[in-house]
Amino acid sequence: MKVVDIRSHVLLDPDFDIGATSSAQDTIVVEVVTDEGVVGVGETDLNAWIARACIESPGTHTMDQGIKHLLLGRDPLDPEAIWRDLYVGTAMTGRRGAVVHAIGAVDMALWDIVGKVRGVPCWQLWGDAAVSTLTPYASLQPDASSMSVYKETMVAWARRAVQAGFTAVKLEATFDGPYRHKGLRAGDEKITEILQTVRDTVGPDVRMMVDVQYAFDSVERALRVTREWDDLDVFFLEAPLWPDDLTKYAELSTQSKVPIASGEWLATEWEFRDLAERGKVQFLQPDTGRVGGISQALKVCRLAADLGRQVVPHAWKTGISTAAAAHLAMVTPHMPTFEFLPPELSTSRLRRELVREELVFENGLLAPPTKPGLGVELVPEAMAEFAAAAERVWPSAAGMAR
Ligand SMILES: [Mg+2]
Repeated sequence: MKVVDIRSHVLLDPDFDIGATSSAQDTIVVEVVTDEGVVGVGETDLNAWIARACIESPGTHTMDQGIKHLLLGRDPLDPEAIWRDLYVGTAMTGRRGAVVHAIGAVDMALWDIVGKVRGVPCWQLWGDAAVSTLTPYASLQPDASSMSVYKETMVAWARRAVQAGFTAVKLEATFDGPYRHKGLRAGDEKITEILQTVRDTVGPDVRMMVDVQYAFDSVERALRVTREWDDLDVFFLEAPLWPDDLTKYAELSTQSKVPIASGEWLATEWEFRDLAERGKVQFLQPDTGRVGGISQALKVCRLAADLGRQVVPHAWKTGISTAAAAHLAMVTPHMPTFEFLPPELSTSRLRRELVREELVFENGLLAPPTKPGLGVELVPEAMAEFAAAAERVWPSAAGMAR
């Protein structure tokens, strides 16, 4: 079997809002096509136009190639060997960041091919089932530009999530720092106020997490805020500090009573080793695309097991990424939950319309995937509409030859 084409689709939600801090508004979907007609689908979480350039660019140095050039003609059935070759063959520009994120989309598509060829769901390629059902959590990020609307919406959504059966929710409570979702601003005491209100709404049995998206500029400030949470039973605090400062993460992780989670932006198992060993965080949060694909996400899961950490993947794109996270959760006993926003609770049209997915959320749980590969099917009409929307923003002829 041979790879004969790689199609890179840049897709955009026509209703996108440039003031939103959400990566669910655009995506790159990769189709890896084989000579035997099997097509694998993958996705990753970075600027979709840059992702396409990483895949389609030519190169003139043996270690600075484009991904497509390296992949054409290869047998797709050994994704881990291909990963190493893509990583080395792009190393001068890549090694971390965008190129590794882009390799992630291709790697996901290759695993989809392997599952389809073998006739088994992807997770069965990686080990025995660690769980009999999957327990996802709902991320709640209200679209609001005033605190009163934000609070009202957050409470309504938390109630809705629990009514839908969720046993875990994560509040995006970001009122300072670089994430300026809809320009919302407030003092740190508002985070605690929101947590308290949601805890009162959902009751004591729902697992509650909070993501402040890099809002705190010091360890002291993070500790001052989390000290108020003793009675709120917060499962973890996500991304409290800027991700490069692992010394501060280590200080916070060792001093905070609330466990610390981080890693949504990281690429490769090596960045996660630093985060765990130097940053000492308790929860590792690989995004299955960004980290470099499933091949790398599996390594992060093994690393976490070795170091006694838990894994809670980030997944904020379409049903392709959420499927990848679900397959990973099937074989990872130290993954207590993972990000899964049901399409009907998402404001993103990409999340709602791009794929027909196998996963159906019912009574707080997802059944184990059984379809071959990742079990997702692209919807052609949605693809066409979202590709046209992206083309209007930056016509490919103005960007690069395709
Ligand atoms: Mg986050």
